[in-house]
Amino acid sequence: MGTPPGPLPDLGSGPPIAPGVPVELAPGVVRVSAPNPSMMTGPGTNTYLVGARSVTVIDPGPAGLPAHTDALVAAAGGAGAIDRIVVTHTHPDHAPGAAALAAATGAEVIGYGPAEGFEPDRLAAEGSRFAVGDDALLARHTPGHASDHLCWLLESSRLLFTGDHVMEGSTVVIRPPDGDMGDYLASLERLVDGSEQISAIAPGHGRVIAEPTAAVRAVLAHRRVREALVATVLSETGPATLEDLLDLVYGDVGPERTAVARASLWAHLRHLVATGEAECDRPITAEGTDEGGTWRPVR
Ligand SMILES: [Zn+2]
Repeated sequence: MGTPPGPLPDLGSGPPIAPGVPVELAPGVVRVSAPNPSMMTGPGTNTYLVGARSVTVIDPGPAGLPAHTDALVAAAGGAGAIDRIVVTHTHPDHAPGAAALAAATGAEVIGYGPAEGFEPDRLAAEGSRFAVGDDALLARHTPGHASDHLCWLLESSRLLFTGDHVMEGSTVVIRPPDGDMGDYLASLERLVDGSEQISAIAPGHGRVIAEPTAAVRAVLAHRRVREALVATVLSETGPATLEDLLDLVYGDVGPERTAVARASLWAHLRHLVATGEAECDRPITAEGTDEGGTWRPVR
């Protein structure tokens, strides 16, 4: 029946995440983790402050956490020090905190586009560049986990803020129809194809990853093994729904992750259709009308 992928290596470095405690990762780069630990957020959402007197905040975190807003202002050295808020994507654990932080500081809010109640003052896209003191943050469009996902590269140190594109020691969920496995794999490939010169990864969840190439290659390998298992199971079962396939492909994950596994299974099946290895009896659409379809292998 094929073999599920083994666990990812945990290549995180430094002490465990402690919410609310500022940690200086490099000169002018501070991490403050939000107090929102959960199955999906790990030890909580990481917010990063970049710059000294003029601070850019990356991923202010969820809404409704005034203690986190206060911790960010304190870590920056006062409300007047924060002049810009950028987000990696608009998921509820990363972007909604922008509203309270902008209200407290007057900072400009920047993201790929409006979504899920997030309303940026300015848009960013692939190649957008914002000066931070003597340094700069460069936007890299990395769709897959979310279609509006940006990674932010600190130009001089080559530190990459990856949001939910890569997290420490765990895969991320790819949830169609907005999430797209083909886009995700391509966005990962880009991080290891030699074009980017990344020194380390500062993820949206978990500690800094000091071996970015090894970590990204491990995620790519993990996804490919899982997708090969999906293809093998589908070829053995013949026509099947998501529910028919779920236990056969994700029998290795606990019941608390069933919904996440189902989403990723769907993403893999859509990718198999895109690569010509499977087909679905319903059209693959941006609305996700294929979710309840029957999938079959293409021989
Ligand atoms: Zn996310």
